[in-house]
Amino acid sequence: MSRASSLRKLLKRHFALGLSILIAGAIAISAGHNSKGTASNAQATPPNPIDPLTDMQALVSLGARVAGTAATEKASQYLIDQYQKAGYETEIQTFTYPKFRDLGSSLEIGSQALEGWAYNGSIAGQISGRLVAIPNNGQPNDFASVPVKGAIAIARRGGMTFSEKVKHASDAGAIAIVIVNNEPKNVRGTLTTQPAIPVLGLSGADGDPLLERARTAVLTATLKVNTQKDAVARNVIAHLPGVTQPKLILGAHYDSVPGSPGANDNASGTAVVLAIARQLSRSFGQSQSPLSRQIWFIAFDGEEDGLQGSQAFVNRATPQFLSNLKGMLNFDMVAVNSTLQMEGSLSLKSFTRVDETMMKNPALRLGSSDHASFKSQNVPVLFFNRGYEPNYHSPNDKTVTPKLLVETKDAALQSIKQILK
Ligand SMILES: [Zn+2]
Repeated sequence: MSRASSLRKLLKRHFALGLSILIAGAIAISAGHNSKGTASNAQATPPNPIDPLTDMQALVSLGARVAGTAATEKASQYLIDQYQKAGYETEIQTFTYPKFRDLGSSLEIGSQALEGWAYNGSIAGQISGRLVAIPNNGQPNDFASVPVKGAIAIARRGGMTFSEKVKHASDAGAIAIVIVNNEPKNVRGTLTTQPAIPVLGLSGADGDPLLERARTAVLTATLKVNTQKDAVARNVIAHLPGVTQPKLILGAHYDSVPGSPGANDNASGTAVVLAIARQLSRSFGQSQSPLSRQIWFIAFDGEEDGLQGSQAFVNRATPQFLSNLKGMLNFDMVAVNSTLQMEGSLSLKSFTRVDETMMKNPALRLGSSDHASFKSQNVPVLFFNRGYEPNYHSPNDKTVTPKLLVETKDAALQSIKQILK
């Protein structure tokens, strides 16, 4: 569905919720809408807190929200805007972790540009020089037999580990190395040791003819290895002014895997936590619930890279802060599948709701999520999820069942009221 038509659909849905609010909302939305269709979503405050769908759609419209990318940065800005509009103070908790990413690498020979893959662990670099073909598969004496000093080596894959071949090249004075895969397709090799020179992989289809040419002709090439070594990620923390020690943390990760818009995983959980925050705050005309002063609302980044955001949070929290928590409620994949699971720690057992069939069927159960970081610090947890679904971690994870968002929100509010009673 294109962004323009989703906006039209949005306006129609809210029309039923009362003209005065809608008109105010419509003016805000149209004033903020621009050709890109993304930034304006931050302005388009949904006119009704009971509808987390708008926020879910705003996050999905940013595309795959991979930790360390511009999309998650935009998503974090959207969440900050929405929490602030709902009367909360926000804090960005920035953290970094090793995450190799190839931002686009290539080899240019004259007017020919070949797409290449930076090897995992390669250093970045843009280097020009003579392209020297290495005989056989790149033993030290193979490198010594050609004028590779100060040049870019091109060698065939095989006969040793990638790291050994790269070491032989740099020991021989090469300024970079191109490794040609021994199959038509390309391969992204992984280096087990930190290389001294950039390492680019070429497919056999592109690399074989080039290797042959370099054996006989004097070729000059420009190698571009464009990599990111670490991911810089952001947790978005929201709470009312002066609330330094909450009793409860409500959390959900807002990042997604590459290639997936992450509607259910996990714009759904992120939107539900935001909707709960709105409903408990003094926004949209209702009075502020005392519960809102006992809760921190957190959108975690980097969950798909191994619970990085929640781990960073607990690592920075004091033992006192963690031990004063009555619980951490985590929301992940909460808007596809009719059964809502609320799996939890023993101390929160009376608040759990689990479907035994789902529990017994590993195919339906979800792997770990951000509550695990808190559980490992002995914080009682409650994990809200609706189990596995076929669009999981795929490009098709772009829609949800809207009413399940509201059902999850209401079920969570029940638990919160009981836990904080
Ligand atoms: Zn998830």
